[in-house]
Amino acid sequence: MIGTVLRRFWPVSLFLAALAPSGCGGGDSSVLDRDPFRAPRELMVRNDLEARGVRDAAVLDAMRNVPRHLFVAESLQSQAYSDRPLPIGEGQTISQPFVVALMSSLAQVEPGSRVLEIGTGSGYQAAVLAELGAEVWSIELLPTIGALAASNLDGAGYGGINLRVGDGYQGWPEEAPFDRIVVTAAPSTIPPALIEQLAPGGRLIAPVGDDPRSQRLLVATRNAEGEVETTDHGAVAFVPMVPGDELPPVSD
Ligand code: SAH
Repeated sequence: MIGTVLRRFWPVSLFLAALAPSGCGGGDSSVLDRDPFRAPRELMVRNDLEARGVRDAAVLDAMRNVPRHLFVAESLQSQAYSDRPLPIGEGQTISQPFVVALMSSLAQVEPGSRVLEIGTGSGYQAAVLAELGAEVWSIELLPTIGALAASNLDGAGYGGINLRVGDGYQGWPEEAPFDRIVVTAAPSTIPPALIEQLAPGGRLIAPVGDDPRSQRLLVATRNAEGEVETTDHGAVAFVPMVPGDELPPVSD
C-alpha cells in the first residue's frame, strides 16, 4: 500500500559524491570545457540572474556549475537554460533559474550548513544548495518523482545528498535541527514542525499561500530565544504543498 510507504518514510541515502567527476566546484575543468551547455549556462547567469539583481557571488558560481540540463528530460534539454519552469512529470515542475537563485540567496547558506529542502522535484535546487557547500537533506512526497530526483542527482554527481520520500509537513525530525530550511512547494501557512526543526539563528524560506496568483515568498528567522520573525520577499508562484494524507489512493 502506497499510503503505508509514505507514512513510514523511505530513506534513500546515496554516498557516491566523493566519486563524482563533475558538478562540484573546482572539478576537472576539461570536462566543463567539453560541455556544450556551458555557453548557454553562462548566458543564463548573466542575463537572467546578474542582470536581474542576483548579487550573491557564491550563488552565481553555484548556478554556473550545476548542469541544469541533466535535471530535465532529454527532449527539453535545449530549453534547460531559459529562465522558466519546465515539466518533470506528475504535473510537477523544475523551478525557474531566477527563483532558485533568489531562494538560494535568501537562504544565506554557508559551507557546512545543514539544509533541509522540502519538495525535491527534479533535484536541481538541492544540487545548487550542495554546490554552496551545504550538507543537504531533501524530502519529496511522490515516489516516482523521488526516484527521478535520485537518478538525476546521481547522474550529475550529487549522489551525497540525503533523499527521503515522505510528507514534508513533518520535516526530518531525526536529523533536526537544521540551519536552513528551503520549501519549494507552497503551503497555506508555514508548517509548525518545520519551525520546530529550525536551529537557533536558522532561516526558513517558503512560498506561502493557496492561490498561486497571490503567493508570497517568506523568510522566517528563529533567534536564540526561539522567537520567530517573518519577512516578505515578494510574489512567487509555486505548485501547492500537498498534505500526505490528501493524496488520491493508488491502485496496485
Ligand atoms: N525543488 C524542485 C522543484 C519543486 S516542485 C526542483 O528544484 O526541481 C515541488 C515539489 O514538491 C513537487 O515535486 C511535489 O511533488 C513536491 N511536494 C508537494 N507537496 C509535498 C509535500 N507535502 N512534501 C514533500 N514534497 C511535496
